[in-house]
Amino acid sequence: MTSTEIKLSKKLENGIEFSCQMCGSCCRGLNEGEVYLYKDDILRLANFLNLKDKSGLREFAKKYLKIINTSFYWKEPKAQRGKTYKFKTLAFKFTGEDERCHFLVDNSCRVHEHRPFQCRCFPFWQMMVSSRKNFIDYTKKCKGLQISKGRFYSKQEILSWAKAENKIEKNFFLEMKKNNFDIFKVYPFLSKEKL
Ligand code: SF4
Ligand code: SF4
Repeated sequence: MTSTEIKLSKKLENGIEFSCQMCGSCCRGLNEGEVYLYKDDILRLANFLNLKDKSGLREFAKKYLKIINTSFYWKEPKAQRGKTYKFKTLAFKFTGEDERCHFLVDNSCRVHEHRPFQCRCFPFWQMMVSSRKNFIDYTKKCKGLQISKGRFYSKQEILSWAKAENKIEKNFFLEMKKNNFDIFKVYPFLSKEKL
């Protein structure tokens, strides 16, 4: 994560055509990636699953979430230099030998309308669209990017996805910073023993 201005890779300057081919690859961690969740994602999904009160959220966290390490580059408005902060965040636990998301069934998302922002934002994550190398690496994993046909996404649209993702990450970082990077204060329903 970074707070710097997003610069789109030249590869995407003219936009791209993309449509998901439902290969399910982005819903499988395969020891390479994580599916991050933020507060709105958790509340929306827990609400859909009817796990919205305190004990429901605890159950949701126990079953579906794990605590992982992350980082964010941040420069105070008047500071000359920024620094990279390391802290904790939440992601989906994976299941099965292929390390898939709990909600992936027959390569189809069972919570499609309520899926986390990170799922909706793919393949326009900031780290992908601002780096030619990352974009090429992810293209090898995503059939939709390989085929490169379907709905046209303009440069502005791609940027707006990446910016929205950055804003969510920045807001989470600021909330964590305000709470001395104590994830149990930010998410009181998390259990220290169970996660
Ligand atoms: S990796 Fe690409 S094609 Fe496969 S499910 Fe994800 S978005 Fe769709
Ligand atoms: S919530 Fe849906 S789209 Fe997101 S990782 Fe899980 S199965 Fe895939």
